[in-house]
Amino acid sequence: MRSHDVVVVGAGLAGQRAALAAIEAKRDVAIVSKLHPLRSHSGAAQGGINAAVGKEDSVDTHIYDTVKGSDYLGDQDAIEFFCREAGPTVIEMEHFGTIFSRAPDGSLARRPFGGAAFPRTIYAADRTGLALLQGLYERLGTESFTMYEEWDLTSVIVREGRCQGIVAFDRRHGTFEEIGAKSVVLATGPCGRVYGRTTNSHTSTGDGIAAAYRAGAALKDMEFVQFHPTALLESSILITEGARGEGGLLKNGTGERFMSRYAPHVLELASRDVVSRAIITEVREGRGFPGGYVHLELMHLGKERIESRLQEICDFCRTFAGIDPVTQPIPVMPAQHYMMGGIGTNIRGETNVPGLLAAGEAACVSIHGANRLGGNSLLETLVFGKQAGIAAAEHAGRAAAPEVRPADAEAEAARVGAMTSRTDGEEPQHLRISMQAAMDGLVGVFRVPDELTQALSEVRALRTRYERVRVVDTSKSYNLNLTDALETGNMLELAEVIVAGAIARTESRGAHSRVDFPKRDDATWMKHTMASRGPDGPRLSYAPVAYTRWEPKERVY
Ligand SMILES: Cc1cc2nc3c(=O)[nH]c(=O)nc-3n(C[C@H](O)[C@H](O)[C@H](O)COP(=O)(O)OP(=O)(O)OC[C@H]3O[C@@H](n4cnc5c(N)ncnc54)[C@H](O)[C@@H]3O)c2cc1C
Repeated sequence: MRSHDVVVVGAGLAGQRAALAAIEAKRDVAIVSKLHPLRSHSGAAQGGINAAVGKEDSVDTHIYDTVKGSDYLGDQDAIEFFCREAGPTVIEMEHFGTIFSRAPDGSLARRPFGGAAFPRTIYAADRTGLALLQGLYERLGTESFTMYEEWDLTSVIVREGRCQGIVAFDRRHGTFEEIGAKSVVLATGPCGRVYGRTTNSHTSTGDGIAAAYRAGAALKDMEFVQFHPTALLESSILITEGARGEGGLLKNGTGERFMSRYAPHVLELASRDVVSRAIITEVREGRGFPGGYVHLELMHLGKERIESRLQEICDFCRTFAGIDPVTQPIPVMPAQHYMMGGIGTNIRGETNVPGLLAAGEAACVSIHGANRLGGNSLLETLVFGKQAGIAAAEHAGRAAAPEVRPADAEAEAARVGAMTSRTDGEEPQHLRISMQAAMDGLVGVFRVPDELTQALSEVRALRTRYERVRVVDTSKSYNLNLTDALETGNMLELAEVIVAGAIARTESRGAHSRVDFPKRDDATWMKHTMASRGPDGPRLSYAPVAYTRWEPKERVY
């Protein structure tokens, strides 16, 4: 039987960093990933990674900006730890081989990002994620561990009150396999594909979050969904905040730099929730361009700067929108970008299930609270990936050998067998597209109570239809129809949690903006939503927010 001390699921930045930490603690480590590590969504990150390394900046300012950015829902003890680790983490990545862009004096170049009091975002042109992923992958490649590549986690095994391993689907051979583990770290990334208009890759389907939820882990703050203000109009490809950091301007259909009415001090560099609401308001009130969008202008920055600092953005605009950002404005609208919520963990990555840990975007520590600042997520994957790896290794040192039974994999094979043997039923892509339409249309930047209720009933109806999901393709090897069915099932489960949390939270905070409750309500709602899986859907309870030094204040930019 396959068995390891520590099984890390996911090979993005969080998973690789967790694996490295557990290997350094002398554990037998395996990584399970549905993708080649360098294809993880981390590699799509453009703008940069935050660390207060300059003389004029300070760790305290980074902490304050993050607390304020979170609209006071972030846990301040976790944020303090996180910001203190930032400098050493970036330096470590440089030592692993990541080549960052440089200032003329040779120091690390930094660009301004939204919601930050100083230019604090360190970058490698507009390919920061790929540069980090490459450096870490090379470092990890010097260690020995077992790699299960193109294996999909389908369930987490919890027996006798502790996690004892996972079941995964081997895409190449078309078989389900059990893998025993004393500790399992879920680093499976986001579930952005519950939306259709998203900057996330097609593989960001929340599989690990859903598997943890089914295994009894509580999900935290899932209603907080970040919409990035500037995604390309048709394709929703991200135009990094770095474009505004370099001096890009947002203009409405009348040519007005409208952010002066929403964030008079910092304009385009307000935090993402503020800028997204401003754009949607401009368009709804008839000040957008025909068809409903605004412009992001870079032309005044000049060809040399645009083409050197925003190389990838130039490529995306030219290839996918037929626009040259050197001479033309870029049509943009907000799109889903990041999940502040995820599997609830403490600073060490531990969940409420012993032996089950989580890190990266799949997890919620919580440092982003109700709204994440750009550049804080790449940092989160590395800081908390490492912590989860350390804690997983420690737990493995204490835990008894895992007990994994072939019946675990057989149960998963039987579940999927029913999907492939059905002669009629629902095709997964139809369910997925309907779910995405409901989430795009009814659970967006501004949330209307009737629309949320409608979304919940639509998602629940889709879940019922999913019980008769049918996989038409019966190929044994690389059956992507089957993968789609599994991923769609996971996303439907998570969509229900997102909507249920959004209905329950009768206030506006960070990215959760309720038109019927437009104000933040600290007296009632300064608390985390915790969702556990019940027989009839998510059961919500609430957990306190940790405070250290920062009293809640009104948030203005
Ligand atoms: C377009 C874009 C740009 C961004 N830019 C920035 C930025 O500039 N700065 C910043 O701070 N943040 C940025 N972010 C956010 C940040 O990149 C992500 O939050 C972060 O990289 C997530 O890393 P991760 O390791 O948690 O997950 P991922 O990188 O998504 O990795 C997930 C891993 O899990 C594996 N996996 C998933 N499901 C399964 C399964 N069922 N079985 C096995 N393996 C599985 C995948 O194979 C993959 O290896 C950006 C995000 C996007 C989408």
